[in-house]
Amino acid sequence: MVHIVGAGPGDPELLTIKAQRLLSEADVVIYAGSLVNEEILKFCKPDAEIYNSAQMMLEEILHVMAWAEKAGKTTVRLHTGDPSIYGAVQEQMDAMKERGIEFDVTPGVSSFLAAAAALKKEYTIPGGTQTIIITRRGGRTPVPDNESLKKLAQHQTTLCIFLSINLLDDIKRDLMSAGFKSSTPVAVVYKASWPGEEVIIKGRLDNIVQQVKESNIDRTAMIIVGHCLDNKSTQKSNLYSPNFSHMFRQARF
Ligand code: SAH
Repeated sequence: MVHIVGAGPGDPELLTIKAQRLLSEADVVIYAGSLVNEEILKFCKPDAEIYNSAQMMLEEILHVMAWAEKAGKTTVRLHTGDPSIYGAVQEQMDAMKERGIEFDVTPGVSSFLAAAAALKKEYTIPGGTQTIIITRRGGRTPVPDNESLKKLAQHQTTLCIFLSINLLDDIKRDLMSAGFKSSTPVAVVYKASWPGEEVIIKGRLDNIVQQVKESNIDRTAMIIVGHCLDNKSTQKSNLYSPNFSHMFRQARF
């Protein structure tokens, strides 16, 4: 059996209880070494066989999984954050299906959520946007034309931009040409939740590029754009309002 497991954003305490249990039971662990915090491997059995997939090709990863299956071993394939977001996990699942390797998936806390926690912000604000767009800027890896930042930005939602810190200049240009004002708040969170390593940079579209340049951050960073980052919500939510009834509470007025 292969368990595909979300390792969370970096803080070992942000593993799910299930992820921790699966790791502690695994005979073989293949982890995404470029991003997973190695501290998390302390939950593995002392005699677990541990592989860093950053140095492996897809075929090699599959070879290890197939060999472990044959030997009746349990494997954990550990992905950063949640495996379903930029996890390159579909091709692995497809190949396992083809080869008759049984697998399941355990979700994890994605880094865009750890970034909101670091910023102490709500992405969906009452009276403001009710939508979060998770995306990346097309670069070496292309993005379909109708999902270009220029097009997505027209909705003026909260944007969580993955894998693009090196393209911040292009992002700024795209967003301004899509109608975002130069004063739009932008935050960059480097290594959200990693104990002792997290860095938060807060700025505006017109000064964030310079700030990030000065910080030397060039990877493992989340870019958040939108008015959710402004200081206060413009309106109170209905959820806790005295004149709004819902399933668990009657209106008081
Ligand atoms: N599946 C992962 C994303 C993998 S893609 C998830 O759900 O989070 C890798 C990108 O995720 C990085 O380039 C960066 O944009 C983001 N990322 C991963 N961990 C991060 C962290 N702790 N803080 C900020 N961004 C992070």
